[in-house]
Amino acid sequence: MDWNTYQAQAATTAVYPISAKLQYPVFGLCGEAGEVMERLKRSLRSGKPIDRDGLIDELGDVLWYISAICTDIGITLSAVVMPSGSDFTLVAAAIRLYKTAGDIASGYLRGRLIHPYLPKAVQMLSCIAHHLDFSMQDVMVRNLAKLKDRQERNKLQGEGGDR
Ligand SMILES: [Mg+2]
Repeated sequence: MDWNTYQAQAATTAVYPISAKLQYPVFGLCGEAGEVMERLKRSLRSGKPIDRDGLIDELGDVLWYISAICTDIGITLSAVVMPSGSDFTLVAAAIRLYKTAGDIASGYLRGRLIHPYLPKAVQMLSCIAHHLDFSMQDVMVRNLAKLKDRQERNKLQGEGGDR
């Protein structure tokens, strides 16, 4: 699956009012970047390995909001994709993703352009996926499968990861 096909399909699952355009996915991105950190925190507490499947699901959630931001500002997702690298540890990439989400929210608040931050967010996502031996293509396919399942059960409008 290519990035823009993902973006087009993800957009069909976007359920938020036009008045919340851009703000909604910016806030959502912050929340999901926090959920990535939360997954890492849980493994610290339990002493067990990171819940790989759970973390991959969160990467899909993060990507969905990045894709929605791109849609809302009128650019393609592929335009913000940088070559993936694994120069960072998983923890360092997660922290950088979290910081970048904050930078995007801060940019939004100040009315600044936010697209310059998006490539870094995608790069950190790709880096985390790489550490999990997962490709971003797999993240996209899995995220859309989750959303399709929700769509079929008419659960897109609820809240929470267990819908
Ligand atoms: Mg999530």
